[in-house]
Amino acid sequence: MFLKALEIHGFKSFPDRTKITIERGITAVVGPNGSGKSNISDAIRWVLGETSAKQLRGGGKMENVIFGGTQSRNAMGFASVNLYIDNTDRRIDVDSDEVVIGRKYYRSGDSEYSVNGQNVRLKDIYEMFLDTGLGRDGYSIIGQGRIAVIVGAKSNERREIFEEASGIAKYRYRKNEAERR
Ligand code: ATP
Ligand code: MG
Repeated sequence: MFLKALEIHGFKSFPDRTKITIERGITAVVGPNGSGKSNISDAIRWVLGETSAKQLRGGGKMENVIFGGTQSRNAMGFASVNLYIDNTDRRIDVDSDEVVIGRKYYRSGDSEYSVNGQNVRLKDIYEMFLDTGLGRDGYSIIGQGRIAVIVGAKSNERREIFEEASGIAKYRYRKNEAERR
């Protein structure tokens, strides 16, 4: 499983539809301060189901992921991100070589999630990535300051981190879900 491409449209500083293809090996994003580098990792985190606006550096409001306009350009009404994942190894439990995860969010507050073009619930995306290391709570995206949070975490919080990393989180999640019914 690896990321093949990211398509961003209306998300933060990307008003134009922008497709970033990711080659095998190491990819580095370079650019001046404020040029949108971190917005790219925010887009990946967001499409994987991040629901905490704080994690997305948007001043605590989800609406702030939508392109807010500049002096020469109007604000947009929605943000959309598609993440193309190579799934030839079937790490994701979907029977196709490519899995495209999509998320769209409107100023009205409406949200849409999709997998290979089919509408799904956020929960479906969350469950799909549990244990793959890539999901919303996975540790494949380490934001600025995240290391300090891990080191400074209380013991029960640190335990959750190890549970996710070691693959136990999925079973705990399923147990909790079963108990809720
Ligand atoms: P640094 O090198 O300082 O880490 P960076 O390349 O990571 O910078 P980002 O944090 O990704 O930069 O991008 C910040 C820019 O994104 C700012 O110019 C900010 O105005 C712009 N931005 C963030 N949210 C929006 C939005 N909703 N609409 C328009 N622009 C936005
Ligand atoms: Mg940055």
